[in-house]
Parts: sequence; C-alpha cells; structure tokens
Amino acid sequence: MRRKCAAIFFAAASVLVVGCSFAKAPPDPAKSAGAADGKEVSAPAVTEVPVISISDDRPAYPVAQEDEPDEPEYPPGYYDEIVIDASWEYADHAQIDDDTARLYRASSDRKDIIISVNAGHGTKGGQSVKTYCHPDKSPKTTGGSTPAGSVKAPAVTGGMTFNDGTREATVTLACAEYLKDALLEEGYDVLMLRYDDDAQLDNVARTVMSNNIADCMISLHWDGDGLTYDKGCFYISVPEKLKSMQPVASYWQEHDALGEALIDALRDNGYKISGAGHMSIDLTQMSYSTIPSVDIELGNGASAHDDTTLQGLAQAIAEGTDEYERNRK
Ligand SMILES: [Zn+2]
Repeated sequence: MRRKCAAIFFAAASVLVVGCSFAKAPPDPAKSAGAADGKEVSAPAVTEVPVISISDDRPAYPVAQEDEPDEPEYPPGYYDEIVIDASWEYADHAQIDDDTARLYRASSDRKDIIISVNAGHGTKGGQSVKTYCHPDKSPKTTGGSTPAGSVKAPAVTGGMTFNDGTREATVTLACAEYLKDALLEEGYDVLMLRYDDDAQLDNVARTVMSNNIADCMISLHWDGDGLTYDKGCFYISVPEKLKSMQPVASYWQEHDALGEALIDALRDNGYKISGAGHMSIDLTQMSYSTIPSVDIELGNGASAHDDTTLQGLAQAIAEGTDEYERNRK
C-alpha cells in the first residue's frame, strides 16, 4: 500500500481529502506531513473508511497505509529457475536431471496454484539412458514403447513423427507455450518443465520436480499409432494392476479426475475424442506422481497441428484445468 499512499496528495485549500481506504497499518505521521504539502490530486482508492484532512495549515490527519501493493507482485513474464533437489523423494531414480525448469508467475488474478506443464519428449540422449519404470523397481505391467515385464525404460523417448514429417517434440513445445499463456492469463502459475528444444530432465526428474513444486501436472503428447486418420484425444489412465502400488494407489483417482476434466473441456470445445477418452498404459509419469497428474494425447500423426489448432487445444486444456482446480477436494 505504500505506493498507493504515496500517490495520494492533498489540494492546497482542501477541507476534505479522501485518503487510503483500507487502513490497517499504523499511521505514519512523517509521511502524512509531507503529503500535506503536495499539490497534485490523484484518483482516490475505493472508499470504505474515508480519512479526512481538515486544512493545509495544520498537519493532515495521518494517512494510514494499506497492506497490499498497488503494483503487481510479479511483472508479466516473470519466472524463477528451478533445479531438482537431491533430497526429494524418488530424485535418486532420475538419470538426467541437471537442467532447469522455469516457474512462471501470473501477474494478475493470482490463484497461488501451480500447474506443471510438460512438453513431452525433447531430451537429447534420453533414449539411450534407462530409468526404473516404477519407484519400487517392479516390472512394467503393460506394453508400449517398452515391453511389459521390463524393469527399466528409456529415460525419455524420442517421440513420434507426424505424417507430414514434423517431430512430436516440436509440436508439444509449441502447444505447451500456448497452454502456459492461457493458464497465466487465468491467474495460475506455470512450471514449464521444458522451455526449449532440449531439456536435460528425464521423465522421472520432470515428475519429481512437479511433485515438489506444483499442484498438478499435465504432459502433452500425440500418439504414435501409425494411423492415417485423426483418431482424436484421450488421456492415459492407470492400469488396474498398478492401482495397488504406491504412490499410484493414493493418487490414481485424482489422475483420472484430472484426465476426465481435460477430456470434457476438449469435447465441449468441439475436439474429437477417441473412444471413451482414455486408454490405460503403464507410464513412468503416473508411477512416480504424488500430485494429480495426467498424460494427455492430443491426437496422432494425422492430426492438424498448425498454430491455430494448437492454441485452441491449449485453451481447452486450460479451461479443463480450471474446472478441475475449482472442484478439487
Ligand atoms: Zn509422446
């Protein structure tokens, strides 16, 4: 409130001046005496508790100070660099973890809720390094890019390629940037796990960072199914066999709730949904997540991925995230 008070002046012959209205802090006689000599009159704040000054030949009534600053706490574009802390749970399972993530802060309508946004793939060398599929080192329960029964999987796979030759990692990053902007606009802070072509953070590191910094985690992907038609969007749900393994047992229902919220928003915005909107796959991300966490597949190699499409998808995901957070227990 200091800045707001400093912007308030008193007319020379005035008998009444409305001062700072949300008076909570102790009065500051020195500041108000100086204010009485001022010339300028600026727009007063909303008045709940008017403060009155009698005239300019006697000290003005002390102008109290508000608690809240007038200027944004974080200017637009503000972010902090985040590094992994080796003491965090499961951090010792990460093999590629020496890069930073960026924690962007909303500059207005702040909700003090952090959404972790993961642009899938985009780790040079990630394919040739292995990490445990599960924190307890148990084998993978379903097949996929790594066969069922495997204890370890590539730290970060290379990702699919669209039918027009565009790499998935390029598209997930572009969509993540749009999602970041949409969430910041809504007042959410955003942890960008990858903000350029190469994040030296593997899937375990990205998940562990999210667990310790964010309130929920959303990973963006497109499915490499080889189809020649766009099959639509779906999220990856947790396989039945994994629901008794910790930390999955404690969180899988919230993972599903977040996934459903995103699918509902995509459907409401006119995007094609694949089948029931989910497919169960044993993924590293959900195996290590201790916050609501989802991997959403926004289509496949035949899907449109121009800027307008990506921006629309991001806007729908932001709406779904907002719906989830508003109804979250
Ligand atoms: Zn992917």
